[in-house]
Amino acid sequence: MVNFLIFGPPGSGKGTQSVRLAEKYNLTHLSTGDMLRAEISAGTELGKKMSSIMSKGELVPDEVVIEMIASKIDSTKGCAGFLFDGFPRTVAQTIALEKMLNDRGMKIDSMLVLDVDHDELVKRLITRAELSGRPDDKDPNVIENRIDVYKEKTEPIIDYCRKRGTYQPVNGMGSIEDIFERLSRNMKRYLK
Ligand code: ADP
Repeated sequence: MVNFLIFGPPGSGKGTQSVRLAEKYNLTHLSTGDMLRAEISAGTELGKKMSSIMSKGELVPDEVVIEMIASKIDSTKGCAGFLFDGFPRTVAQTIALEKMLNDRGMKIDSMLVLDVDHDELVKRLITRAELSGRPDDKDPNVIENRIDVYKEKTEPIIDYCRKRGTYQPVNGMGSIEDIFERLSRNMKRYLK
């Protein structure tokens, strides 16, 4: 198994690229954002509790997403590896993920970090709001809060992974195809 993290601020294109990469390389795409939105649309108790946190652009509690990811890992069979998208988002989640993988004889092989300018992020999120109808994309204040939360709580993971030797920066500006090529080139080094 070869496991990748796709990493970057909100609007950096993680979701768009993950879907394509997972298909091309037979990876299981695990997006905690998608899992949480599925809970909300299914109207579960968990979804009800999480939706107000998400609509403010805050992070849901670590235990919630760690539990979701662990159960997905254990129920998935027959793929070349995992592509984690939007998880981990805190150093505590990163440590939990490392342990989870280690206990199952796996590791994080590469952390692909999409670099995108701040103005471009805001522009993409506003455009996405019109298409996706996601409440956390609609309000410019919530967008700015998500970017701030990313800087404060999520970005420190980069330093953590740099020390592990898994950090791989990727230029996230340009067309979807160009960024896909850059990510593919990087991932091919790990996939046989
Ligand atoms: P984006 O596309 O903006 O990066 P996501 O779709 O990944 O956003 O996530 C949307 C929201 O779901 C986040 O703003 C947060 O509230 C919640 N969320 C998703 N993943 C996590 C996580 N790993 N830890 C905590 N909260 C999360």
